[in-house]
Amino acid sequence: MGTGLSQMPKIQSRPAGHWRAGAWIAALLLAVAAPSGATPVQQYGLLSVKGNRIVDKNGNPVALRGMSLYCWSTAGTQFYNANTVNWLVRDWKCNIIRIAILPGSYQGNPTGEINKVKTVVDACIANGIYAVVDWHSMDGAQNNVQSSKNFFTDLAKAYGTTPNIMYETWNEPMQESWATQIKPYHEAVIQAIRAVDPDNIIICGTRNWSQDMDEASKNPITISTNIAYTMHYYAATHKQALRDKATTALKNGIALMVTEYGTAEATGSGFLDAPESHKWWDFLDQNFISSCNWSVAALGETTAALKPGASAAGGWTAANLSPSGTLVRDEIRAKNPDPTGIALSAPSRRAALLAFRRAGAEWLWTGGGDNSVLFVDARGRLRVAPPGSGTDYRKERSYGNQ
Ligand code: MG
Repeated sequence: MGTGLSQMPKIQSRPAGHWRAGAWIAALLLAVAAPSGATPVQQYGLLSVKGNRIVDKNGNPVALRGMSLYCWSTAGTQFYNANTVNWLVRDWKCNIIRIAILPGSYQGNPTGEINKVKTVVDACIANGIYAVVDWHSMDGAQNNVQSSKNFFTDLAKAYGTTPNIMYETWNEPMQESWATQIKPYHEAVIQAIRAVDPDNIIICGTRNWSQDMDEASKNPITISTNIAYTMHYYAATHKQALRDKATTALKNGIALMVTEYGTAEATGSGFLDAPESHKWWDFLDQNFISSCNWSVAALGETTAALKPGASAAGGWTAANLSPSGTLVRDEIRAKNPDPTGIALSAPSRRAALLAFRRAGAEWLWTGGGDNSVLFVDARGRLRVAPPGSGTDYRKERSYGNQ
Protein backbone atom coordinates (compact mmCIF):
# COMPACT_ATOMS: atom_id res chain seq x y z
CA MET A 1 0.00 0.00 0.00
CA GLY A 2 1.32 3.38 -0.82
CA THR A 3 2.27 5.66 1.99
CA GLY A 4 4.20 8.84 2.25
CA LEU A 5 6.90 6.95 4.10
CA SER A 6 7.80 5.11 0.95
CA GLN A 7 8.89 8.42 -0.50
CA MET A 8 10.86 9.47 2.51
CA PRO A 9 14.18 7.62 2.36
CA LYS A 10 15.53 10.22 -0.03
CA ILE A 11 15.64 12.54 2.94
CA GLN A 12 17.86 10.15 4.88
CA SER A 13 20.85 11.08 2.78
CA ARG A 14 20.92 14.52 4.35
CA PRO A 15 23.90 15.20 6.59
CA ALA A 16 22.82 14.85 10.21
CA GLY A 17 24.21 18.27 11.05
CA HIS A 18 21.66 19.84 8.82
CA TRP A 19 18.91 19.17 11.32
CA ARG A 20 19.34 21.96 13.75
CA ALA A 21 17.07 21.96 16.77
CA GLY A 22 15.82 25.40 15.85
CA ALA A 23 14.66 24.23 12.47
CA TRP A 24 12.06 21.80 13.68
CA ILE A 25 10.90 24.17 16.38
CA ALA A 26 10.40 26.87 13.77
CA ALA A 27 8.49 24.45 11.62
CA LEU A 28 6.46 23.35 14.60
CA LEU A 29 5.51 26.94 15.32
CA LEU A 30 4.48 27.39 11.74
CA ALA A 31 2.37 24.29 12.03
CA VAL A 32 0.74 25.51 15.20
CA ALA A 33 -0.08 28.78 13.51
CA ALA A 34 -1.56 27.02 10.51
CA PRO A 35 -5.25 26.16 10.29
CA SER A 36 -6.08 23.07 12.26
CA GLY A 37 -7.62 19.93 10.89
CA ALA A 38 -6.30 16.81 9.31
CA THR A 39 -5.91 15.82 5.69
CA PRO A 40 -9.21 15.52 3.82
CA VAL A 41 -9.30 11.75 4.28
CA GLN A 42 -8.44 12.02 7.97
CA GLN A 43 -11.22 14.55 8.31
CA TYR A 44 -13.94 12.85 6.26
CA GLY A 45 -12.92 9.19 6.44
CA LEU A 46 -14.68 6.57 4.36
CA LEU A 47 -17.40 8.27 2.35
CA SER A 48 -20.79 6.70 1.81
CA VAL A 49 -24.11 7.48 0.17
CA LYS A 50 -27.00 8.54 2.39
CA GLY A 51 -30.15 9.41 0.47
CA ASN A 52 -29.19 11.83 -2.26
CA ARG A 53 -25.98 12.93 -0.58
CA ILE A 54 -22.43 11.72 -0.32
CA VAL A 55 -21.58 11.90 3.34
CA ASP A 56 -18.50 11.63 5.52
CA LYS A 57 -17.80 9.16 8.32
CA ASN A 58 -20.04 11.21 10.64
CA GLY A 59 -22.93 11.31 8.20
CA ASN A 60 -22.43 14.94 7.18
CA PRO A 61 -22.72 15.82 3.49
CA VAL A 62 -19.41 16.56 1.83
CA ALA A 63 -18.50 18.17 -1.49
CA LEU A 64 -15.00 17.51 -2.76
CA ARG A 65 -13.32 19.62 -5.42
CA GLY A 66 -10.43 18.64 -7.61
CA MET A 67 -9.10 17.82 -11.03
CA SER A 68 -9.44 15.08 -13.60
CA LEU A 69 -6.36 13.79 -15.34
CA TYR A 70 -6.45 13.55 -19.14
CA CYS A 71 -5.96 10.20 -20.83
CA TRP A 72 -6.06 10.92 -24.55
CA SER A 73 -2.42 11.82 -25.22
CA THR A 74 0.92 12.44 -23.56
CA ALA A 75 -0.19 16.08 -23.18
CA GLY A 76 -2.19 14.62 -20.29
CA THR A 77 -0.62 11.29 -19.37
CA GLN A 78 2.69 12.97 -18.54
CA PHE A 79 0.92 14.17 -15.40
CA TYR A 80 0.10 10.72 -14.00
CA ASN A 81 2.80 11.03 -11.37
CA ALA A 82 3.27 11.82 -7.67
CA ASN A 83 4.85 15.23 -8.22
CA THR A 84 1.78 16.45 -10.07
CA VAL A 85 -0.54 15.09 -7.38
CA ASN A 86 1.58 16.72 -4.66
CA TRP A 87 1.33 20.02 -6.46
CA LEU A 88 -2.41 19.74 -7.07
CA VAL A 89 -2.91 19.13 -3.36
CA ARG A 90 -0.57 21.70 -1.94
CA ASP A 91 -0.95 24.51 -4.44
CA TRP A 92 -4.43 23.94 -5.87
CA LYS A 93 -5.83 22.47 -2.62
CA CYS A 94 -7.46 19.63 -4.53
CA ASN A 95 -8.94 16.98 -2.28
CA ILE A 96 -9.93 14.62 -5.09
CA ILE A 97 -8.18 13.50 -8.27
CA ARG A 98 -9.83 11.57 -11.08
CA ILE A 99 -7.66 9.06 -12.87
CA ALA A 100 -9.00 8.49 -16.38
CA ILE A 101 -7.93 5.28 -18.09
CA LEU A 102 -8.89 4.38 -21.65
CA PRO A 103 -10.23 0.82 -21.95
CA GLY A 104 -8.25 0.35 -25.15
CA SER A 105 -5.02 1.33 -23.40
CA TYR A 106 -5.75 -1.10 -20.56
CA GLN A 107 -6.62 -3.90 -22.91
CA GLY A 108 -3.37 -3.34 -24.80
CA ASN A 109 -1.21 -3.21 -21.67
CA PRO A 110 -3.10 -4.20 -18.50
CA THR A 111 -0.06 -4.20 -16.21
CA GLY A 112 1.21 -0.88 -17.47
CA GLU A 113 -2.14 0.84 -17.08
CA ILE A 114 -2.78 -0.63 -13.63
CA ASN A 115 0.65 0.60 -12.58
CA LYS A 116 -0.20 4.02 -13.95
CA VAL A 117 -3.32 4.08 -11.80
CA LYS A 118 -1.39 2.86 -8.77
CA THR A 119 1.23 5.58 -9.11
CA VAL A 120 -1.50 8.20 -8.85
CA VAL A 121 -3.62 6.46 -6.21
CA ASP A 122 -0.54 5.94 -4.04
CA ALA A 123 0.20 9.65 -4.32
CA CYS A 124 -3.41 10.46 -3.39
CA ILE A 125 -3.13 8.21 -0.33
CA ALA A 126 0.18 9.81 0.67
CA ASN A 127 -1.52 13.20 0.45
CA GLY A 128 -4.65 12.10 2.28
CA ILE A 129 -7.04 12.87 -0.58
CA TYR A 130 -9.61 10.88 -2.57
CA ALA A 131 -9.03 9.16 -5.91
CA VAL A 132 -11.69 8.33 -8.50
CA VAL A 133 -10.59 5.63 -10.91
CA ASP A 134 -12.43 6.20 -14.18
CA TRP A 135 -13.04 3.57 -16.86
CA HIS A 136 -12.98 6.20 -19.57
CA SER A 137 -15.28 4.48 -22.02
CA MET A 138 -17.60 6.34 -24.31
CA ASP A 139 -20.05 4.07 -26.15
CA GLY A 140 -19.76 0.31 -26.11
CA ALA A 141 -18.45 -0.53 -22.63
CA GLN A 142 -21.10 -3.22 -22.41
CA ASN A 143 -19.36 -5.11 -25.19
CA ASN A 144 -16.39 -6.01 -23.00
CA VAL A 145 -17.65 -6.26 -19.45
CA GLN A 146 -14.97 -8.77 -18.51
CA SER A 147 -12.18 -6.32 -19.22
CA SER A 148 -13.77 -3.74 -16.95
CA LYS A 149 -14.37 -6.34 -14.25
CA ASN A 150 -10.71 -7.39 -14.37
CA PHE A 151 -9.57 -3.77 -14.11
CA PHE A 152 -11.72 -2.90 -11.14
CA THR A 153 -11.17 -6.21 -9.36
CA ASP A 154 -7.41 -5.61 -9.40
CA LEU A 155 -7.87 -2.11 -8.02
CA ALA A 156 -10.38 -3.19 -5.40
CA LYS A 157 -7.88 -5.80 -4.20
CA ALA A 158 -5.16 -3.17 -3.97
CA TYR A 159 -7.17 -0.32 -2.46
CA GLY A 160 -10.58 -1.59 -1.32
CA THR A 161 -9.61 -1.38 2.33
CA THR A 162 -8.50 2.26 2.05
CA PRO A 163 -10.97 5.14 2.44
CA ASN A 164 -9.38 6.91 -0.53
CA ILE A 165 -10.65 5.09 -3.59
CA MET A 166 -13.86 5.46 -5.56
CA TYR A 167 -14.73 3.55 -8.70
CA GLU A 168 -16.26 5.16 -11.79
CA THR A 169 -17.35 2.26 -13.89
CA TRP A 170 -18.32 3.93 -17.17
CA ASN A 171 -17.36 7.50 -18.00
CA GLU A 172 -19.93 8.41 -20.62
CA PRO A 173 -22.44 5.95 -22.04
CA MET A 174 -23.89 7.40 -25.22
CA GLN A 175 -27.11 6.17 -26.79
CA GLU A 176 -27.23 2.76 -25.13
CA SER A 177 -30.38 1.92 -23.20
CA TRP A 178 -30.21 2.59 -19.45
CA ALA A 179 -32.56 -0.25 -18.66
CA THR A 180 -31.19 -2.98 -20.91
CA GLN A 181 -27.53 -2.11 -21.44
CA ILE A 182 -26.06 0.52 -19.13
CA LYS A 183 -27.64 -0.57 -15.87
CA PRO A 184 -26.91 -4.30 -16.41
CA TYR A 185 -23.31 -3.42 -17.26
CA HIS A 186 -22.93 -1.43 -14.05
CA GLU A 187 -24.51 -4.23 -12.05
CA ALA A 188 -22.04 -6.76 -13.43
CA VAL A 189 -19.06 -4.55 -12.59
CA ILE A 190 -20.51 -3.64 -9.20
CA GLN A 191 -20.81 -7.33 -8.35
CA ALA A 192 -17.16 -7.85 -9.24
CA ILE A 193 -16.05 -4.91 -7.11
CA ARG A 194 -18.31 -5.81 -4.20
CA ALA A 195 -16.90 -9.34 -4.10
CA VAL A 196 -13.68 -7.68 -2.95
CA ASP A 197 -14.65 -4.27 -1.57
CA PRO A 198 -18.02 -4.12 0.19
CA ASP A 199 -18.27 -0.41 0.77
CA ASN A 200 -16.28 2.19 -1.18
CA ILE A 201 -18.45 4.38 -3.41
CA ILE A 202 -19.12 3.30 -6.98
CA ILE A 203 -20.14 6.05 -9.42
CA CYS A 204 -22.23 5.00 -12.39
CA GLY A 205 -22.34 6.77 -15.74
CA THR A 206 -25.69 7.67 -17.22
CA ARG A 207 -27.06 7.79 -20.75
CA ASN A 208 -26.32 10.62 -23.17
CA TRP A 209 -22.73 11.40 -22.08
CA SER A 210 -23.71 11.11 -18.42
CA GLN A 211 -26.49 13.65 -18.62
CA ASP A 212 -29.59 11.49 -18.14
CA MET A 213 -29.33 11.17 -14.37
CA ASP A 214 -33.06 11.78 -14.17
CA GLU A 215 -33.70 8.61 -16.16
CA ALA A 216 -31.41 6.62 -13.87
CA SER A 217 -33.17 8.07 -10.83
CA LYS A 218 -36.46 6.48 -11.92
CA ASN A 219 -34.83 3.06 -12.27
CA PRO A 220 -31.90 3.08 -9.88
CA ILE A 221 -29.43 0.35 -9.12
CA THR A 222 -30.52 -1.51 -6.02
CA ILE A 223 -28.12 -4.46 -5.80
CA SER A 224 -25.67 -2.56 -3.64
CA THR A 225 -25.37 0.38 -1.29
CA ASN A 226 -23.01 3.33 -1.77
CA ILE A 227 -23.92 3.85 -5.39
CA ALA A 228 -23.76 7.34 -6.89
CA TYR A 229 -24.42 8.52 -10.42
CA THR A 230 -22.31 10.53 -12.81
CA MET A 231 -23.26 13.94 -14.14
CA HIS A 232 -21.04 15.66 -16.70
CA TYR A 233 -21.38 19.20 -17.97
CA TYR A 234 -19.54 21.72 -20.10
CA ALA A 235 -20.57 25.17 -18.97
CA ALA A 236 -20.71 26.90 -22.35
CA THR A 237 -23.01 24.16 -23.71
CA HIS A 238 -25.01 22.75 -20.80
CA LYS A 239 -26.91 25.15 -18.61
CA GLN A 240 -30.12 25.45 -16.61
CA ALA A 241 -31.88 22.60 -18.44
CA LEU A 242 -29.24 20.17 -17.26
CA ARG A 243 -29.30 21.57 -13.74
CA ASP A 244 -33.07 20.96 -13.79
CA LYS A 245 -32.47 17.34 -14.70
CA ALA A 246 -30.01 17.06 -11.83
CA THR A 247 -32.59 18.55 -9.48
CA THR A 248 -35.13 15.96 -10.63
CA ALA A 249 -32.64 13.17 -10.04
CA LEU A 250 -31.85 14.46 -6.56
CA LYS A 251 -35.55 14.74 -5.76
CA ASN A 252 -35.95 11.14 -6.84
CA GLY A 253 -33.36 10.24 -4.23
CA ILE A 254 -30.11 9.44 -6.01
CA ALA A 255 -26.71 10.94 -5.19
CA LEU A 256 -24.73 12.65 -7.94
CA MET A 257 -21.08 13.27 -8.56
CA VAL A 258 -19.68 15.50 -11.29
CA THR A 259 -16.64 13.43 -12.11
CA GLU A 260 -15.99 15.65 -15.11
CA TYR A 261 -16.89 19.20 -16.06
CA GLY A 262 -15.44 21.81 -18.35
CA THR A 263 -15.52 25.58 -18.35
CA ALA A 264 -16.02 25.74 -22.12
CA GLU A 265 -17.98 23.88 -24.79
CA ALA A 266 -18.77 20.18 -24.90
CA THR A 267 -15.98 19.66 -27.42
CA GLY A 268 -13.55 20.60 -24.65
CA SER A 269 -12.68 23.73 -26.54
CA GLY A 270 -14.45 26.83 -27.86
CA PHE A 271 -15.80 29.61 -25.66
CA LEU A 272 -14.73 29.83 -22.02
CA ASP A 273 -17.92 30.63 -20.09
CA ALA A 274 -16.88 31.99 -16.70
CA PRO A 275 -20.33 33.31 -15.62
CA GLU A 276 -22.01 29.98 -16.36
CA SER A 277 -19.15 28.14 -14.63
CA HIS A 278 -19.95 30.13 -11.51
CA LYS A 279 -23.65 29.29 -11.81
CA TRP A 280 -22.69 25.63 -11.92
CA TRP A 281 -20.37 25.92 -8.95
CA ASP A 282 -23.13 27.61 -6.96
CA PHE A 283 -25.47 24.76 -7.87
CA LEU A 284 -22.91 22.14 -6.86
CA ASP A 285 -22.29 23.89 -3.55
CA GLN A 286 -26.01 24.16 -2.78
CA ASN A 287 -26.43 20.45 -3.38
CA PHE A 288 -23.16 19.16 -1.90
CA ILE A 289 -22.07 17.70 -5.21
CA SER A 290 -18.39 16.82 -5.61
CA SER A 291 -16.62 17.74 -8.82
CA CYS A 292 -13.49 17.21 -10.89
CA ASN A 293 -12.48 19.63 -13.61
CA TRP A 294 -11.45 18.39 -17.03
CA SER A 295 -8.51 18.52 -17.30
CA VAL A 296 -4.89 18.38 -16.22
CA ALA A 297 -3.47 18.66 -19.71
CA ALA A 298 -1.00 20.95 -21.43
CA LEU A 299 -2.42 21.49 -24.86
CA GLY A 300 -4.18 24.10 -26.90
CA GLU A 301 -7.79 23.41 -26.03
CA THR A 302 -9.85 25.72 -23.87
CA THR A 303 -10.56 23.30 -21.05
CA ALA A 304 -6.93 22.20 -20.67
CA ALA A 305 -5.72 23.76 -17.42
CA LEU A 306 -2.14 24.16 -18.60
CA LYS A 307 -0.38 25.72 -21.49
CA PRO A 308 1.96 23.57 -23.56
CA GLY A 309 5.36 23.41 -21.93
CA ALA A 310 4.12 23.22 -18.32
CA SER A 311 6.38 20.90 -16.33
CA ALA A 312 5.23 17.31 -15.80
CA ALA A 313 6.51 17.67 -12.22
CA GLY A 314 4.11 20.42 -11.14
CA GLY A 315 5.49 23.68 -9.77
CA TRP A 316 3.49 25.66 -12.30
CA THR A 317 3.59 29.42 -12.28
CA ALA A 318 0.70 31.66 -13.25
CA ALA A 319 2.21 31.86 -16.73
CA ASN A 320 1.84 28.08 -17.11
CA LEU A 321 -1.91 28.17 -16.47
CA SER A 322 -4.52 28.61 -19.19
CA PRO A 323 -7.43 30.99 -18.54
CA SER A 324 -9.49 27.93 -17.60
CA GLY A 325 -6.75 26.65 -15.31
CA THR A 326 -6.57 30.02 -13.58
CA LEU A 327 -10.36 30.19 -13.15
CA VAL A 328 -10.61 26.66 -11.79
CA ARG A 329 -7.58 26.91 -9.50
CA ASP A 330 -9.00 30.10 -7.98
CA GLU A 331 -12.34 28.34 -7.41
CA ILE A 332 -10.85 25.25 -5.80
CA ARG A 333 -8.47 27.26 -3.62
CA ALA A 334 -11.30 29.53 -2.51
CA LYS A 335 -13.68 26.72 -1.59
CA ASN A 336 -11.65 23.79 -0.36
CA PRO A 337 -10.36 23.78 3.20
CA ASP A 338 -6.65 24.32 3.64
CA PRO A 339 -4.84 21.00 3.33
CA THR A 340 -2.04 22.06 5.63
CA GLY A 341 -2.82 19.24 7.98
CA ILE A 342 -2.47 18.68 11.63
CA ALA A 343 -2.07 21.45 14.15
CA LEU A 344 0.72 20.40 16.46
CA SER A 345 -0.06 22.36 19.58
CA ALA A 346 2.08 19.98 21.59
CA PRO A 347 4.26 21.17 24.46
CA SER A 348 7.24 19.06 23.50
CA ARG A 349 8.84 17.35 20.57
CA ARG A 350 7.88 13.98 21.97
CA ALA A 351 4.26 15.03 22.47
CA ALA A 352 4.23 16.46 18.96
CA LEU A 353 5.53 13.20 17.57
CA LEU A 354 2.87 11.24 19.41
CA ALA A 355 0.11 13.57 18.20
CA PHE A 356 1.45 13.40 14.70
CA ARG A 357 1.53 9.62 14.67
CA ARG A 358 -1.83 9.28 16.37
CA ALA A 359 -3.26 11.21 13.45
CA GLY A 360 -1.72 8.69 11.08
CA ALA A 361 0.29 11.22 9.11
CA GLU A 362 3.58 10.55 7.46
CA TRP A 363 4.30 14.14 6.72
CA LEU A 364 2.96 17.56 7.42
CA TRP A 365 3.47 20.39 5.03
CA THR A 366 3.77 23.59 6.98
CA GLY A 367 2.60 25.92 4.22
CA GLY A 368 2.37 29.59 4.95
CA GLY A 369 4.85 30.64 2.30
CA ASP A 370 7.53 28.38 3.73
CA ASN A 371 7.89 24.97 2.21
CA SER A 372 9.15 23.00 5.15
CA VAL A 373 7.87 19.49 5.46
CA LEU A 374 7.58 17.75 8.78
CA PHE A 375 7.83 14.02 8.57
CA VAL A 376 8.40 10.97 10.67
CA ASP A 377 11.62 9.37 9.53
CA ALA A 378 12.45 5.68 9.29
CA ARG A 379 13.61 5.69 12.93
CA GLY A 380 10.38 7.24 14.13
CA ARG A 381 11.78 10.71 14.70
CA LEU A 382 9.94 13.89 13.85
CA ARG A 383 12.08 15.82 11.41
CA VAL A 384 11.83 18.80 9.16
CA ALA A 385 12.85 18.95 5.54
CA PRO A 386 13.53 22.59 4.74
CA PRO A 387 13.01 24.15 1.33
CA GLY A 388 15.51 22.93 -1.19
CA SER A 389 16.60 19.97 0.88
CA GLY A 390 16.84 17.62 -2.06
CA THR A 391 13.57 15.83 -1.39
CA ASP A 392 10.67 15.46 -3.77
CA TYR A 393 9.29 18.58 -2.20
CA ARG A 394 12.18 20.64 -3.41
CA LYS A 395 10.47 21.09 -6.73
CA GLU A 396 7.61 22.85 -5.03
CA ARG A 397 9.59 25.70 -3.56
CA SER A 398 7.71 28.27 -5.57
CA TYR A 399 4.56 27.72 -3.55
CA GLY A 400 3.50 30.80 -1.71
CA ASN A 401 5.45 33.07 -4.02
CA GLN A 402 2.85 33.27 -6.74
MG1 MG B 1 -13.74 -0.72 1.21
